[in-house]
Amino acid sequence: MTKPFYSYNFSAGPAVLPQEVLQQAAAEMLDWHDSSMSVMEMSHRGPEFMSILAAAQSDLRELLAVPDNYKILFMQGGGLGENAIVPMNLMGRKPQPATADFVHTGSWSGKSIKEARKYGNVNIVASGEASGFTTVPPRDSWKLTPDAAYVHLCTNETIDGVEYQFTPDVAAETGDAPIVADMSSHLLSRVIDVSKYGVIFAGAQKNIGPAGLTVVIVREDLLGHALPCCPSAFNWKIIADNDSMYNTPPTYAIYIAGLVFQWIKREGGVAVMEQRNIAKSRALYGCLDKSFLYKNRVQKGSRSRMNVPFYLKNESLNETFLEEAKERGLMQLKGHKSVGGMRASIYNAMPIQGVYALRNFMEDFEHRYG
Ligand SMILES: *Cc1c(COP(=O)(O)O)cnc(C)c1O
Repeated sequence: MTKPFYSYNFSAGPAVLPQEVLQQAAAEMLDWHDSSMSVMEMSHRGPEFMSILAAAQSDLRELLAVPDNYKILFMQGGGLGENAIVPMNLMGRKPQPATADFVHTGSWSGKSIKEARKYGNVNIVASGEASGFTTVPPRDSWKLTPDAAYVHLCTNETIDGVEYQFTPDVAAETGDAPIVADMSSHLLSRVIDVSKYGVIFAGAQKNIGPAGLTVVIVREDLLGHALPCCPSAFNWKIIADNDSMYNTPPTYAIYIAGLVFQWIKREGGVAVMEQRNIAKSRALYGCLDKSFLYKNRVQKGSRSRMNVPFYLKNESLNETFLEEAKERGLMQLKGHKSVGGMRASIYNAMPIQGVYALRNFMEDFEHRYG
């Protein structure tokens, strides 16, 4: 059973998964490793699922070289949920009411600002709004709060197509404020130094696995500061003390994410993914930059390797573009409803052939309609 060779899925999320992973999951669907059960039917506390969870955690730790003083938590609630869970867990680091610093780079940091305001003060230390969210404000423009509880970044803005190409350091102005990074749409797409962050989290359905799982990587000294209002099931310390088994974790999503981690290892690791993602994004931006029909508005130093939004200068061609793309097996290219236009998400599981197919179609389309 294989998908038709000509179909490529550019959805921003839930998104494409490696074909090998789907085939393995299909083969193991009814009977996982002679257990005579599907993974979906297993007790989360039984030895079979415990082994799946342990392997997923250790493979992720290996892939990102997560230091020993960080916990890996498998939670629920998605990216938006975690954007509310963060302030509930970290505002308590400082006397109340505490202040959290935010860099506003687009839709998702905007939403997390709204969530955090329910639990403390928010200081927007830099914003890309004046540029129409086409740039990450440079580090030297940030006006950080000396005693901030934490500094929140969205390091890849999935809707706006803006990605950090640097790892900031905030210690000089804030003292001990940890950086919290929403990496929902680019975790595992590039090599990162985990030790530069206090907390990294990602909803799985972009670059990791199915919806329903949130991966959280948290430094141990940041556990145990939850506000009294924080539900137990969202309290990082309780989750960590119970090794992500305080309540029923999203078992099947963890299993698929584990298969994705094994796939990345077989392919050569995160550094290999990064090289491929550089090549893929270059191919697509190269096509956009020499075009008279298409335009990407993001400044070159802030362009995302994962999510490439673009506009047709003649917007009346939008529907034709999407219809013709679909006929060629180029799926889900419509941009987010809040910004319009098109968006090609080219996560780890998108092969470069898919990007070439899209580029060839776009060039042909421009030739005919441009
Ligand atoms: C998709 C996304 C979210 C929201 O994820 P949900 O799981 O839908 O809540 C948050 N942040 C970023 C960066 C995202 O890409």
